[in-house]
Amino acid sequence: MQKTSDFANGGVSFWFRDVGLPAKRAPLPGPIDVDVAIVGAGLTGLWTAYYLAQASPDLKIAIVEKEFAGYGASGRNGGWLSGEPAGQFRRYAKTHGADSAKRLQRNMFDTIDEVISVASGEDIDADIVKDGLIHVATNAAQLQRLTHHVDHLRTQGWGADDLFLLTPSELGERVQVAGARGGFWTPHCARIHPAKFMIGLAAAVERLGVTIYEDTAADSISAGTVTTGRGTVTARYVVQALEGYTDSIAGQRRKLMPMNSSMIVTEPLSPSVWAEIGWSGAELVGDSGHSFAYSQRTADGRIALGGRGVPYNFASSFAADGSTAHKAVGQLMEKLQAMFPAVAGSSVQHTWSGVLGVPRDWCAAVNFDRRTGIANAGGYVGHGLTGTNLAARTLRDLILGDDTELTRLPWVGRHARRWEVEPIRWIGASALYAAYRHADRRETHSPRPETAITAKIADTISGR
Ligand SMILES: Cc1cc2nc3c(=O)[nH]c(=O)nc-3n(C[C@H](O)[C@H](O)[C@H](O)COP(=O)(O)OP(=O)(O)OC[C@H]3O[C@@H](n4cnc5c(N)ncnc54)[C@H](O)[C@@H]3O)c2cc1C
Repeated sequence: MQKTSDFANGGVSFWFRDVGLPAKRAPLPGPIDVDVAIVGAGLTGLWTAYYLAQASPDLKIAIVEKEFAGYGASGRNGGWLSGEPAGQFRRYAKTHGADSAKRLQRNMFDTIDEVISVASGEDIDADIVKDGLIHVATNAAQLQRLTHHVDHLRTQGWGADDLFLLTPSELGERVQVAGARGGFWTPHCARIHPAKFMIGLAAAVERLGVTIYEDTAADSISAGTVTTGRGTVTARYVVQALEGYTDSIAGQRRKLMPMNSSMIVTEPLSPSVWAEIGWSGAELVGDSGHSFAYSQRTADGRIALGGRGVPYNFASSFAADGSTAHKAVGQLMEKLQAMFPAVAGSSVQHTWSGVLGVPRDWCAAVNFDRRTGIANAGGYVGHGLTGTNLAARTLRDLILGDDTELTRLPWVGRHARRWEVEPIRWIGASALYAAYRHADRRETHSPRPETAITAKIADTISGR
């Protein structure tokens, strides 16, 4: 497969190129005083504003955003509105018990429908189709892992209607993935077009009376105050919603590790290519490798596929505009062609990257300190599309002082320890993904069903 001559690299994402970058909103005009100041206009920030403004229309709410609404991961992602939890069941269960962790899982399932219902109510046309999610195994080790994973999910609140193992032929009826040995399908996932969704959600939030100040970067956050280069925002409550950009705030460098995830998208594929691949629905499709690839069939007949690429750069640096290293593009093209050989004659038209927020315990958290009035939510790793909505409704309840089922979920009040200092963090993250790539290669060429030892060691050391 080839890159076309107008192959675009970065510029936020293909999604925003597809619909056009929105006109910028005005920056903060100077010092202001509000009831709630939200820092970051990604999904966490916008959803929190949306639910707070709905529940309490008298609140004066302002969002300060460094670039524009949707500039971060929320406008760059793979469009999996998925029920997979933002965090790890075993860790939530360890601190709060299995029943509580199961409640989080059920709430994640329900949240998909909540997002779809808001999109419909607010007239957000974002190519949303809920056809579920397929994970595919393409070697013996992946198949064994996938089968064990399904067994685990069954003990974590995934019932008979939530999850279905697929034989190779059942899988082939939905999508032809080269070398597939089997897979599973869950109805709990919907495809979305991230930029269309962000543009629509930002407009819905404004209709509720919230002001979004763009081109306004926060430098520091303290009780009742957000300091920006354009003036200070004073507020009774401050919500920090920065995910992979958390380290831009003074004193928060080691809180979340910004991890890159990169994507490529093909040109619209011809009917003959689609005939070979099948995939006539809008299921999201992922592999079962350690380094993990995720894909969607877009509404206009392309394949958008992502993976970790070059996951972490020294001292948390990353290309803010989303431009992607050639090495990562090459890896993604190889993966795409390995999964769907029929795309060999088609071209890739765009590549981009974004950053995930990874906490030291790989578990998302929702926090509110009533004494300082500071709230934050994040650490979703790669599962924030659904998680951000649930986290935002939880923040609403916490801030408004309502004791609800949401405020008792096990990700409320979690505080992971900080990441190691550099260069230990860089060495660790680089070694982790080198080990996963090595394990993937070994498993591809091995008839044995056991997970490669390098991946097991990497899981243990990283705490993943
Ligand atoms: C390539 C990629 C693919 C992904 N695919 C999926 C997927 O398919 N499904 C899924 O569930 N999740 C996926 N994710 C993760 C998901 O996108 C995120 O978890 C989610 O969007 C996080 O939303 P957020 O609002 O917390 O953070 P963000 O969307 O990153 O928002 C943070 C905002 O803060 C702004 N900002 C930064 N610094 C400052 C500052 N100092 N002051 C003010 N504003 C600032 C940024 O510009 C940004 O708009 C993916 C992520 C990436 C990068």
